Amino acid sequence: MKRISSELKEAKTIAIGGHVRPDGDCVCSVMALYRYLQKKLPQAEIDIYLEEPPAPFHVLQGIEDIKSEFNTDKSYDLFFALDCNDERLGDALPIFRRAKKRVNIDHHISNTGCGDINIVEPERSSTAELLYDLMEPEFVDEEIAKAVYIGIAHDTGVFRYSNTSPHTMQIAADLLKFGFDFSALIEETYYEKTYFQTQIMGRAILGSVRFMDGRCIVSMVSRRMMEFYCVTPKDLDGIVNQLQGVKGVDCAIFMYETGTLEYKVSMRSNGLVDVSKVAVKFGGGGHVRAAGCTMNGTYHDNINNLSREIAAQLPK
Ligand code: 5GP
Ligand code: MN
Repeated sequence: MKRISSELKEAKTIAIGGHVRPDGDCVCSVMALYRYLQKKLPQAEIDIYLEEPPAPFHVLQGIEDIKSEFNTDKSYDLFFALDCNDERLGDALPIFRRAKKRVNIDHHISNTGCGDINIVEPERSSTAELLYDLMEPEFVDEEIAKAVYIGIAHDTGVFRYSNTSPHTMQIAADLLKFGFDFSALIEETYYEKTYFQTQIMGRAILGSVRFMDGRCIVSMVSRRMMEFYCVTPKDLDGIVNQLQGVKGVDCAIFMYETGTLEYKVSMRSNGLVDVSKVAVKFGGGGHVRAAGCTMNGTYHDNINNLSREIAAQLPK
């Protein structure tokens, strides 16, 4: 944390926040930084403002300290916004705005930096990886190592996506030396699904449709389906990745209904299409191969609008 050492020295109150519907990298980055700052600055008061993380992340120590109640007038000396820009901080945005100094740490290519200090490095696999390199090694313990490891594992699809660099693997190797059960952690937080999560995934895959000569695939989950299978948006992670795994598919789209004529869109690509550019067109963002946005309109209008942007990028 050399780049922000003077800010840290003076900070008596610190808040940490991440994006709405926090994913593995976001939750783990927040928890790793929380524990790191507790160790480095034992006198400081540190609070976390984040939506309730998915159940499997309760293996992380300190997760019960997360404040999912954002009603506060507090004005923090320092606010860390992790894995997102200010637009995606949700209800933590007013707290971020009130803070005396704001630090933005992220790896999304679409993020132009929303802090007074911005550490945004799109070539990084994950925010967790970037954060780890900012930490002074003497404060890193097994719990921090676990969080960083799971964060990286989630954003790299368990060291599989092209964002995995030799440096990513080097960090993972260093972290494994702490001796935690990495295999169980990945199984429990990444692969394991509840029965209902598995059922809704099956339902979504069954209802998927290919178009553009099989180069695109799309599926949608309505609010009624979510009610029927007793699931919430958190339970839909992984569906779009399954769709992207279909042979011949260059770009996968998954949508779930969030309101009347409102859908949350997730996109994945094999790299031929920059889905971050597509998402940015509709007010969202992300990475070249994984991005998302929220769209208004009917399901079919949304598909039409997205496929126009995708087709413009796809080589014939
Ligand atoms: P997912 O499809 O897994 O929700 O998100 C894929 C990637 O796109 C993630 O890195 C996520 O942070 C980003 N992303 C998803 N939805 C949005 C959005 O509405 N706005 C922005 N800026 N990024 C998004
Ligand atoms: Mn991330």
